[in-house]
Amino acid sequence: MASGVLVYADHREGSVLAGTKEALGAARRLADQIGGPVSAALIGNGVAGLAQELIQSGADTVYVADAPALDKYTNATYLPALDAIVSQADPAVVLFSKSLVTLDLAPRFAFRRGVGLANDVIDLKVENGQVIASRPVYGGSAMAEVLPEGTPQMFTIRGKTQEPLTPDPSRQGNVVPVSVTVSEGPVKVIDQQKERASGPKLQDATRIVSGGRGIGEAKENWRQLEELAEVLGGAVGASRAAVDAGWVPTHMQIGLTGTTVSPDLYIAVAISGAVQHMAGCSGAKTIVAINKDPEAAIFKQARFGVEGDWKKIIPALTKELKAMM
Ligand SMILES: Cc1cc2nc3c(=O)[nH]c(=O)nc-3n(C[C@H](O)[C@H](O)[C@H](O)COP(=O)(O)OP(=O)(O)OC[C@H]3O[C@@H](n4cnc5c(N)ncnc54)[C@H](O)[C@@H]3O)c2cc1C
Repeated sequence: MASGVLVYADHREGSVLAGTKEALGAARRLADQIGGPVSAALIGNGVAGLAQELIQSGADTVYVADAPALDKYTNATYLPALDAIVSQADPAVVLFSKSLVTLDLAPRFAFRRGVGLANDVIDLKVENGQVIASRPVYGGSAMAEVLPEGTPQMFTIRGKTQEPLTPDPSRQGNVVPVSVTVSEGPVKVIDQQKERASGPKLQDATRIVSGGRGIGEAKENWRQLEELAEVLGGAVGASRAAVDAGWVPTHMQIGLTGTTVSPDLYIAVAISGAVQHMAGCSGAKTIVAINKDPEAAIFKQARFGVEGDWKKIIPALTKELKAMM
């Protein structure tokens, strides 16, 4: 009979993603209530070395499908590998952390298995031995409780909503190699280009300066936000309006359909404070809003508000901070 919780171990460039460790923390807490082991599905080429990191983060058993054909993610190759692992582990619950890979993999796998999937989950609880998820709906203005039907129950978890366990280097676990026969599917990854980025990643930054439509198109305007972020040792984010306008790249978008961040300090510059934007930054410890419209919704969410034109405020703030450093 199916038991325990399996986590899909998402990794990039030889490192386990932070979201996977958060999912392992959630898996441990669920397994304590529904019983059974916590396992991880590790798929890729030359990835076996990551198994120990997964064990330290909470996995009892790591199932590893390691093959040259699994070098780059395609659903045609990863789906059969995950299928083989889930058949062997027979978990009651499968958790994915939300990423570009799992947004493709999880629904396809749920369809393949004929079971339900709750997407973009921010909380999990157990009732009568079954896992129920909470997820934001209507752009974050309401919460829905969802019970995915079938076995295993499947969930994709939003980043920064679950606590990872403190890594324990003395934790012992099993590593189980799983052999899978994969053949190239109709899609072939020919090349991958890494986006050039400097400074801390948005997800990891403790200080974020974020710009909205009111910043405008000019590169020099965005350069001013970068300068403030540099002084603070932080990163620059943006609203979807700025991304959709093509002023900044997609990876900078914060919000419901962008990245979820929870920095110590979030400075929202010329951002109105739409619910879809706030869904991605309401976890910030302190929000500072700079906006020329005193009625802007962002002022209701911010701890500190500065009413005025950012073009005057940002250079003055950067200058003062530089003088203090
Ligand atoms: C399904 C769905 C998903 C979405 N997902 C996201 C998401 O992930 N992230 C996201 O951000 N949005 C998202 N949106 C869009 C969201 O609803 C808003 O349209 C968007 O956040 C608005 O961006 P903004 O605040 O930059 O622009 P606006 O709402 O146009 O606000 C611009 C602000 O700049 C101020 N301003 C202008 N000039 C100055 C100045 N010189 N000095 C100071 N202030 C100034 C104005 O007073 C105004 O408050 C989503 C919408 C939908 C329907």
